[in-house]
Amino acid sequence: MVNIGVLALQGAVREHVTSIEACGANAVLVKRAEDLNGIDGLILPGGESTTMRRLIDLYGMMEPLRVFANEGHPMFGTCAGLILLAKSLVNYDQSHLGVMDVTVERNSFGRQVDSFEANLTIHGVAEDFPAVFIRAPHITEVGFNTEVLCEHNGRIVMAQQGQFLGCSFHPELTDDHRITAYFVNLVENHMKQKVKT
Ligand code: GLN
Repeated sequence: MVNIGVLALQGAVREHVTSIEACGANAVLVKRAEDLNGIDGLILPGGESTTMRRLIDLYGMMEPLRVFANEGHPMFGTCAGLILLAKSLVNYDQSHLGVMDVTVERNSFGRQVDSFEANLTIHGVAEDFPAVFIRAPHITEVGFNTEVLCEHNGRIVMAQQGQFLGCSFHPELTDDHRITAYFVNLVENHMKQKVKT
């Protein structure tokens, strides 16, 4: 059974834990840098990216998280988590972790539309996926080795760059665990490859 961490500083942590367990993997709360030892992949949840960033700095987790990424571990950012992963942010000089080759714009579906649901087709992952968007960001640009997995109303809302997966919405807020299962599978394949090499 693979161990999937959930960055547990703020945000929709519990729902990810439920979804991970529903997919038959072990969920581990990551509250401090040492919690990264022994996990095989990490989910960065939705919430408030600026608050999470403040807590990451406060607990000295920035460097350990970057090392975890550079070691090749799979990481999945949902909503604010995608903002944390992105290499660059529209209207901001600095990124946060800056490890995934995407440019992300925050709160980009308009203030008047705070939240909405949409049924999405996610290439190679799921058809008719019920996606919940809450003050969601979107991806404005992807690097050449980053695959766009889903667009909604002409905006990129999910992408993958090898080990990195990111989406604008909250896949953990419904009982549909197909996206979490896709990430668990990514982590399992990563572990198998590690055993081989
Ligand atoms: N708007 C939030 C941010 O910028 C993200 C919202 C979410 O994660 N649901 O961090």
